[in-house]
Amino acid sequence: MKAENKKGKVYLVGAGPGKSDLITLRGLELLKQADCVIYDKLVNLALLRYAKANAELIATPKRTGGESFTQQQINKLLIEKASEHNTIVRLKGGDPYIFGRGTEEAKWLADNGIDFEVVPGVTAAIAASAYAGIAITDRDFSSQVAFITGHEAQGKQQSSIDWGNLSHFSGTLCFYMAMENFDFIIEQLTSKGMSPDTPAAVIADATLATQRTVKATLATIANVCKSENIGPPAIIVIGATAKGDSRLEWLTKQPLFSKTIVITRDAEGNAELADKIVDKMGLAIELPVTKLKPLTDSTAFLKTLSEIKSYDWVIFTSATGVEQVFDVLSKLNKDARVFGSAKIAAIGTATASKLAKFGIRADFVPTTFTSRILAKELIETAQLRGRKVLLLRSKLASDELPDMLAKARAVVENVPVYTQEKNLCDLKQFSEMLAQKRVDWIVFASPFSATCFFEQVPVEFVKSSNAKIASIGPVTTKQLAELGLQVSLEPAEHTINGLLSSIEQIEAR
Ligand code: SAH
Repeated sequence: MKAENKKGKVYLVGAGPGKSDLITLRGLELLKQADCVIYDKLVNLALLRYAKANAELIATPKRTGGESFTQQQINKLLIEKASEHNTIVRLKGGDPYIFGRGTEEAKWLADNGIDFEVVPGVTAAIAASAYAGIAITDRDFSSQVAFITGHEAQGKQQSSIDWGNLSHFSGTLCFYMAMENFDFIIEQLTSKGMSPDTPAAVIADATLATQRTVKATLATIANVCKSENIGPPAIIVIGATAKGDSRLEWLTKQPLFSKTIVITRDAEGNAELADKIVDKMGLAIELPVTKLKPLTDSTAFLKTLSEIKSYDWVIFTSATGVEQVFDVLSKLNKDARVFGSAKIAAIGTATASKLAKFGIRADFVPTTFTSRILAKELIETAQLRGRKVLLLRSKLASDELPDMLAKARAVVENVPVYTQEKNLCDLKQFSEMLAQKRVDWIVFASPFSATCFFEQVPVEFVKSSNAKIASIGPVTTKQLAELGLQVSLEPAEHTINGLLSSIEQIEAR
């Protein structure tokens, strides 16, 4: 590569072991700036959403055996992309220099005169140690740790692994890429003098909702893994600390850990909720059964917007409504000042905090977050007779709120700012998991999403599974009941957060 072709800088970034927020701040910053991201198979795809919308994203999976997207091809790609872009992030699972061939890539970049920087990451063994309650060092049991590749031995004439030494190592052995060679590794260690009674543990999918840990002895661990169906990616830990200590097991005590929760909002709503579930170590299956359709380009809405100051009250009944309205305001180069002295009501805390994001403190939030209670309490609190009240809501919202306000003699204007439409989704993963009784909860946050979901999934299929149904509030519960379903949970606080905490409380019992 000629020097004049050199342009970009390559950042070899450790993505961390699994859970997407275990990347370093430096790594995330660079990911956000990257013009091109070249990522490995073990990288959590959730990280890619931080990349710029126009960033070039390139996957470089390697099949086992390592001969598909070869290292050579990856190296070539790095040079090619460095000549096209300024900032290239080479995103690698765990830490780039721990068995990730990051060193080869760095040397190659150096040899080709390309600028590079290495951002370390949390390596799988360290993560597994923290998340499985198997501290790999412990002043009572282990004062040394070895990281060993278990892949190396395969087919290699001359192993560079010193089995003799390892079998007498008095600390903790952590094997990477070792599941395929498990029997060979055990055979090597025991034949060279390690006791078959040595504690051993395997941690698969460390830091993810699917994390599984098995503990046994060197003699039995391989069979336990087989019978428990534990496969890669996994770390094998051998040594006294592999016994673990139940006091260190914090993950399995998280109420939502490994619980599968199916969510049925629109794509944006699902993404937000999935984050919260993953944060609590649950597994979120996102089924966007509805699709948001803004109605803010309607003449009715634009006319209302120009007259918004003339209203005494403006009522928002969802965070989405707030978002839609402020989206348009920002496009029109306007801001919260369009509301003038109109008072503003929010149906609940989620809507109120969305308003707060745009600089508006809601003048009224009811004690219970339903349209009915909103109407009842607003009528009790405010003088509405003859007052102009504007509802900025979903087109699908019920008539209860405007009817009650009109009965109190308010002059009500109901202007839809968005609607939801049915969205057909890919149900394959969901159906398989439901059939295998691996779905714990199905969550509904609106009556319409319940309708759209059960237009795609037979009611009987759900009823014959062990999945429990959670509903955000009474209107959704009623709709589910009409569809013939029994709701296991309706939170006292009718918000997504309320829903999630109630599920947590039930699971904690
Ligand atoms: N550079 C990576 C390791 C790459 S080698 C790091 O620092 O972690 C790939 C091996 O890492 C896998 O075969 C497995 O042994 C281990 N590994 C990666 N992610 C893992 C995870 N989430 N849980 C358990 N082991 C993992």
